[in-house]
Amino acid sequence: MTKLQLRNVSKRFQQVQALQDVSLALEAGQMLAVLGPSGCGKTTLLRSIAGFEFPDAGSITVDGEVLHDGKTHVRPEKRRIGYVPQSGVLFPHLTVAKNIAFGLSGSQHKAKRVSEMLALVGMEGLGGRMPHELSGGQQQRIALARALAPEPSLVLLDEPFSALDAGLRSALREEVRAALKAIGATVILVTHDQEEALSMADRVAVMREGCCVQVADPVSLYKYPADLCVAHFVGEATTLEAPVANGSIETLFGRLQVASGCPRNCRLATIMVRPEQFIVGQPDGQQVSGKIVKTVYYGHDALMYLKTDAQFGADEIRVRVMGAPTFSAGDLVSVAVSGDVMAYPQEEKKEQAA
Ligand code: ATP
Repeated sequence: MTKLQLRNVSKRFQQVQALQDVSLALEAGQMLAVLGPSGCGKTTLLRSIAGFEFPDAGSITVDGEVLHDGKTHVRPEKRRIGYVPQSGVLFPHLTVAKNIAFGLSGSQHKAKRVSEMLALVGMEGLGGRMPHELSGGQQQRIALARALAPEPSLVLLDEPFSALDAGLRSALREEVRAALKAIGATVILVTHDQEEALSMADRVAVMREGCCVQVADPVSLYKYPADLCVAHFVGEATTLEAPVANGSIETLFGRLQVASGCPRNCRLATIMVRPEQFIVGQPDGQQVSGKIVKTVYYGHDALMYLKTDAQFGADEIRVRVMGAPTFSAGDLVSVAVSGDVMAYPQEEKKEQAA
């Protein structure tokens, strides 16, 4: 069942087109992550759904009820939406417990729910504190607890974990996701963190300059980005130039299959390869070989940067390996590519330039 539907929503602030014809549909119980560079319209999108912005055009519907269109604008407090703004503002004159209980009714139920929410965000025993006695990350967690306490069926979270350290962030992500799933909430999560988006959400929307450029499940978004900007924005990407013929490309890495949906023939395409698609090994004199230029270690994995004799227009080739890097700078390695690759045609650009 469709929980939330946006149709052609636009919003302009003076010279800035913050939202441009945004259309989205979200099924009940799904979590949608919204990713995009700073200023692309993510917060405006959430504020429009919550009712704090008045879109210039388009419609917003929840459970089939129109919240906004050319004729209707339901006030924010009537929308029954849990909204945690970026700054997570708490009521400064109320204790933590009273902040959490703000939207609840029934005194017995209230106390129990406040304790549950404090436990959820890992802040048991701190209900008596005032907001100014909390750190930024703690305030953010209480704002989250306050929004979830009334068990809203639609929850909007604007970078809820941004003020938390890495360990707490990943623990809280899991718990919040489980809590939201348990109450069957439909969620939109705005984040700058692509790992957070890919790991938490059922679907991910990528925004650019007010437009929603792609909405897909995390695997499809990562494997089949709609354009090169999305490819570089979500994850690491190595791009190289090659012609495509009959759905495959002949390269020194061997014959590569282009992903379905890509053009099957084009004179010149930009090919996108993810770092984990490159496989390196001891040079065997048969496969392409390259020299490791540098390695960067991230703990769970490492990136190795290498140069081959035939770079295919790639500035650098990035190879991901699990754990510690298996080769060092200066080593000679063989390079192969596994799996299908995305191909973005370059014909128009080249013809225009000619
Ligand atoms: P960030 O990731 O930095 O939070 P964002 O993607 O959430 O950014 P928005 O806050 O939605 O972006 O802003 C989109 C654009 O609209 C920006 O250029 C911003 O400066 C502009 N904007 C947002 N609110 C207003 C406002 N009230 N008045 C004028 N311009 C605004």
